[in-house]
Amino acid sequence: MFDKILIANRGEIALRVVRACREMGIRSVAVHSTADSDAMHVRMADEAVCIGPPPSDKSYLSIPAIVSACEISGAQAVHPGYGFLSENASFVQILEDHDITFIGPTAEHIRIMGDKITAKETMKKLGVPCVPGSDGGVPTLEEARRIAADIGYPVIVKATAGGGGRGMKLALTPDDLDEAFQTARSEARACFGNDEVYIEKYLQKPRHIEVQVFGDGKGNAVHLGERDCSLQRRHQKVLEEAPGPAITPEMRAHIGRICADAVAGIDYRGAGTIEFLHENGEFYFIEMNTRLQVEHPVTEAVFGVDLVREQIRVAEGLPMSFTQGDLEIHGHAIEVRINAERLPGFTPCPGTITQFHAPGGLGVRIDSALYDGYTIPPYYDSLIGKLIVHGRDRPEALARLKRALGELIIDGVDTTIPLFEALLEEQAILSGDYDIHWLEKWLQEKFS
Ligand code: ADP
Repeated sequence: MFDKILIANRGEIALRVVRACREMGIRSVAVHSTADSDAMHVRMADEAVCIGPPPSDKSYLSIPAIVSACEISGAQAVHPGYGFLSENASFVQILEDHDITFIGPTAEHIRIMGDKITAKETMKKLGVPCVPGSDGGVPTLEEARRIAADIGYPVIVKATAGGGGRGMKLALTPDDLDEAFQTARSEARACFGNDEVYIEKYLQKPRHIEVQVFGDGKGNAVHLGERDCSLQRRHQKVLEEAPGPAITPEMRAHIGRICADAVAGIDYRGAGTIEFLHENGEFYFIEMNTRLQVEHPVTEAVFGVDLVREQIRVAEGLPMSFTQGDLEIHGHAIEVRINAERLPGFTPCPGTITQFHAPGGLGVRIDSALYDGYTIPPYYDSLIGKLIVHGRDRPEALARLKRALGELIIDGVDTTIPLFEALLEEQAILSGDYDIHWLEKWLQEKFS
């Protein structure tokens, strides 16, 4: 059993891990930059270590600083949260070399899934359905033209090393391909230092459906249903729900089984998410995230499990505390991401919180590191909280979301709260009838 876990992250997710540790009787160590000395995760953890100046590459992304913090504090394991070093295979390798447990999969699994082409090849071999496209990287424009003509337009050019919606360019017709290919490559080179790209059929009206999987690292794995994350702006998720409004129990059992078998087949350890586009009843794999996702609480709500606790258990070598047969969906959950951003441009809006009041009541969860008087630093992600509601069915969850948004007060900075209030007036949201392009179109109609 671990006595002490270091959390290599900040904000709401660091707090989330502190909470799981406390319930398990494990001491938690926060790390923080000098900009975060007053942060909630620092106050709530049992210990805290300052790891450097504000820029992430000198603090939260600094592997030597984090390894030193483990040695100073005597932490036996590291929980990476999401973002930062959570999908960095060399970080995992370095921790292993220092006899520190990484709470997550092996370096090898991260490496396989971090490269989108290798991930797709691996998944295909494991029987997971994929988006039609090139077999591997596409080095030249001539080859890109040939492949695109083969699969049929529209196509999307994607960076092998891509993430966060960057390095992706659409070509509606052959005339667009030249520019899409060149810009995807140069963006990939600039963002990821790797300009390899591949080509996929561009799906016109898909939903983004992701399956939560969990493995014990010893060949046993389960799935915890899906989340629908189709409401996106610039390929970034805005609202997520579970179960997916368009997914039937038969579809869930089918794709869930495929995903659980796939991760069992590679002895995957811990939490993972297999992301699909879903169109006309078919699932098409796009990528796997080898970590906890921002939107994991909707799954926790409907299944009544603590995914972070489970991650810690399997990292210790313990079995999962549930089998597939134990996992049953109860009701419906929705999460909205509260960002410190000014609408309509979604410009980051750091500043001081003059008043914070969290909603409460049945079926309401707030994961946030805000407090009255807290100053949001300008250096990091603009996510300042997540509001998660759970109801017996989707209409009840929607009513609860509206009620909870009405109670939530965040003064001092602009936030995305008004966006959700407006969305809850929309028929498409109320009926659950939206695809991955719906929000962009709605924003354009509303604000241009
Ligand atoms: P990233 O790792 O950058 O998030 P993903 O491969 O997960 O990239 O894709 C992010 C989003 O881009 C998807 O949720 C979807 O909205 C869109 N997208 C990706 N591939 C396709 C495709 N083949 N057709 C249509 N949309 C796509």
